Amino acid sequence: MMNNIISTIKTNQSFIILPHLKPDGDAIGSSLALAKGLEKMNKSVKIISLDEVPYDVKFLDCKDYFVDSIDMESIDIVFALDSSDVGRLEDRKEFLVKPIVNIDHHKTNTLYGELNFVQEDACATGEIIFNLLNSLEIDIDREIATDIYTAIASDTGNFMYSNTTAKTHEIAADLITKGIDVSLISMYLYQNIPLNKFKFNTEVLRQVEFYFDNRVALVTISKELKIKYDCYNTDSIVESIRNIEGVQVAVLIDERNSIAKISMRSKKDIDVSLIALDNGGGGHVNAAGFEVDAGVEAGKKIVIKELGMIYERIS
Ligand code: AMP
Ligand code: MN
Ligand code: MN
Repeated sequence: MMNNIISTIKTNQSFIILPHLKPDGDAIGSSLALAKGLEKMNKSVKIISLDEVPYDVKFLDCKDYFVDSIDMESIDIVFALDSSDVGRLEDRKEFLVKPIVNIDHHKTNTLYGELNFVQEDACATGEIIFNLLNSLEIDIDREIATDIYTAIASDTGNFMYSNTTAKTHEIAADLITKGIDVSLISMYLYQNIPLNKFKFNTEVLRQVEFYFDNRVALVTISKELKIKYDCYNTDSIVESIRNIEGVQVAVLIDERNSIAKISMRSKKDIDVSLIALDNGGGGHVNAAGFEVDAGVEAGKKIVIKELGMIYERIS
């Protein structure tokens, strides 16, 4: 499959890259690395995202790669990165009109591309892009190395989760030899929370509820609270709830315009991707999500019911 992608790149000239909506560090970092790599081959390339780049990865050199429209007549190939299904690209349907190369590491990937390069055992899409650029014999310079390191650090919880392998560390070591500044990247990623977000997080954390003998921790974020703090970035909250001793599953229910976005995180072998799949979403064993269009209370009922079935089964 890698060979098919290599020949697709070599025989075409004009590309766009779509990271998933509400992009995270892996989606942004892997998109930037691929864009910069393709540019080194004198290809024309833009990244199309309608969402803001999250504050913690804004330090990456985004130059003028990001656009929100493009003449699709001139485009040969559409890369979809870190996106398990077309729903993750649905805000940009009008760009899905040329052959899609789907590059991802979600086990729930629906293989929606003309070419599908889905490697479940890759810790991040950034790892696949690292291998792809090496296969293309593109020089991974310090800037591209910073993008890939950011992608990998983001998806492995800074080299903490079970997707962290010897290979992950080998790639990180290779990237460090390219001259990246690990402590500076970590500062941007982890020691850079905007003050309004910190205050927002503090209030959210006070509202956590516990279920199933404190094995499940759940919090709902209302639209009003986001308006109160002018904070719409809910990143890292669900992970910090999972940090509690004895909590096996952490759930965050985020009230968006007409939908509720459910984010789940688990410890060990509790597979929250199955709950996500059941409800039209996707993800990984320990990190998954889905949307409910009937509001936050309905979302809460669904998750609690699904978790109730899991706890009935294992107790
Ligand atoms: P999140 O909770 O949004 O940070 O997502 C956790 C993981 O689940 C990520 O790998 C996402 O790509 C995936 N995920 C979240 N929401 C969805 C969705 N609606 N459809 C498919 N995958 C999702
Ligand atoms: Mn992602
Ligand atoms: Mn990812």
